[in-house]
Amino acid sequence: MTGRIYLSPPHMSGREREYIAEAFDSNWIAPLGPHLDAFEAEMASYVGVAGAAAVSSGTAAIHLALRLLGVTAGDSVFCQSFTFVATANPIRYLGAEPVFIDSEPDTWNMSPAALERALADKEREGRLPKAVIVVHLYGGMSRMEELVTVCDRYGVPLIEDAAESLGSTYRGRHSGTFGRFGIYSFNGNKIITTSGGGMLVSNDAEALGTARFLATQGRDPAPYYQHSQMGYNYRMSNLLAGVGRAQLEVLEERVAARREVYLRYAGSLGDVADIAFMPELPGTRSNRWLTAMTIERENAEFLRDSLLAELAEANIEARPLWKPLHMQPLFAEASFYAHQPGRGSVCGELFRKGLCLPSGSSLTEADQQRVISVIRNVLLPAIDETLAV
Ligand SMILES: *Cc1c(COP(=O)(O)O)cnc(C)c1O
Repeated sequence: MTGRIYLSPPHMSGREREYIAEAFDSNWIAPLGPHLDAFEAEMASYVGVAGAAAVSSGTAAIHLALRLLGVTAGDSVFCQSFTFVATANPIRYLGAEPVFIDSEPDTWNMSPAALERALADKEREGRLPKAVIVVHLYGGMSRMEELVTVCDRYGVPLIEDAAESLGSTYRGRHSGTFGRFGIYSFNGNKIITTSGGGMLVSNDAEALGTARFLATQGRDPAPYYQHSQMGYNYRMSNLLAGVGRAQLEVLEERVAARREVYLRYAGSLGDVADIAFMPELPGTRSNRWLTAMTIERENAEFLRDSLLAELAEANIEARPLWKPLHMQPLFAEASFYAHQPGRGSVCGELFRKGLCLPSGSSLTEADQQRVISVIRNVLLPAIDETLAV
């Protein structure tokens, strides 16, 4: 056994230091500055939207998007259940309540059928949500055409949590650019990182102006400090934007590397019966931020836990899939719409039988082979045994 293998460690390009040095040399250490403006422009141009606002985290970007859509106390917001808690927490920051929507099997993301049923219900009650938040989990694209169509039919704006899917595309169009707002994260474990940071993107330039205003304490244009709205301290610093610019330059290489990691797993485990990888919808490109797999057997949960234990023993970091938010104690009161009513939940079933494998863009073939060996050693005998019974 050798060094620890991480799930998704930061991967620097080398140019980050150059950009940071530039910021030091010009004394642009403050938030705001030339790197920040350039990073916003470069991100907007890369994903193909009118503009971008760089902020301190992906969570802050979701909070701003909800605020811009007028979400306030007593409102409801529909949210994909199968995601990280940061997708839903900002709904509560504003005093609103989340309603969770199940996933569907082909994308693991929001079920258009469940969304439609939930919207029809709320329309009858005269309580349509203020927004719908869709997530592209692990980089895999959601069924955007269907989801956009349903949201449009009810006139409810869509927010895309593309924190994990920067570089993923749907029919050639980037994740994060279909909704009224899209958000990305540059947290340390994401496909590119500024150590911490986020971005709000939109084709609504005026809304982005308001986002920047709210993200800098909501300071009115007056010669003194005057405030008529409650703001936040949410801007990204010029230093970190320098790191982000260097990272964005190599994003396409990072996507290619993560896709290659996924292909090696799929290729090397192709002969292991009863496992499956997260599907990729035809016409889309997943950035394969994390390679996610499921064990398709009765005793999947037991096998998954044994596999996680063996990987930990071999000094390899792996994790169960996200525990759905409708199953979290934090959201025990929230309501939930299943993909197929009366048949449990798709996301709960994925959580029961799935895990994420080390997927960093800097993962070497030799290290990946170590991971693959552990998986084969655990799953091949386990499956043979069950067959023998
Ligand atoms: C990482 C992540 C976030 C939050 O991003 P931060 O920059 O860490 O605040 C939100 N949603 C999802 C799906 C994420 O994976």
